[in-house]
Amino acid sequence: MAILKVSRMGHPVLRQQAQPLTPAQIRQPAFQQLIDDMVDTMVDYEGVGLAAPQVYQSVRLIVLGYPDADPENPDDLPLTLCINPEWESLSEEKELGYEGCLSIPDLRGLVPRSKAVVVRALDRKGKPFTLKADGFLARVLQHEVDHLDGILFLDRMQDLSSLSFLEEYYRYWHKKED
Ligand code: ZN
Repeated sequence: MAILKVSRMGHPVLRQQAQPLTPAQIRQPAFQQLIDDMVDTMVDYEGVGLAAPQVYQSVRLIVLGYPDADPENPDDLPLTLCINPEWESLSEEKELGYEGCLSIPDLRGLVPRSKAVVVRALDRKGKPFTLKADGFLARVLQHEVDHLDGILFLDRMQDLSSLSFLEEYYRYWHKKED
């Protein structure tokens, strides 16, 4: 187990198209270790999602959620990992919501995302699964999959007028969201 360094905006790895993983690569102990290290890193940085390019690995792997999620609490996303994820929108509608990113520290901004998506991916054993998601989970999934295509949330903002530093976000905008 290790806590990895998180790449920040400006590092080229965040702008690359990440490579899909083969079943043989998924079985490698080093890759299984990367999964566990990414979960530890996400928890340590208090993030809700992390994509492999954010730890300098240009491969199609994302982790999201909380390892100690409370199943009774719908805001507590269960720990999920997706290898080679692909998603499709299940909704015509897009919804604006604030996002932040461990690779863009201390900023929040409003990003339009599909309200509901279906994701197809492989689990850590290489087994395919399908996940339907809406609301916050759908948002986090779209944000993390974007990282695999070299896209950051700033690229998705319609305009930059909502962009806030964290302190100002909590002071002026956090409560107005609900
Ligand atoms: Zn991010």
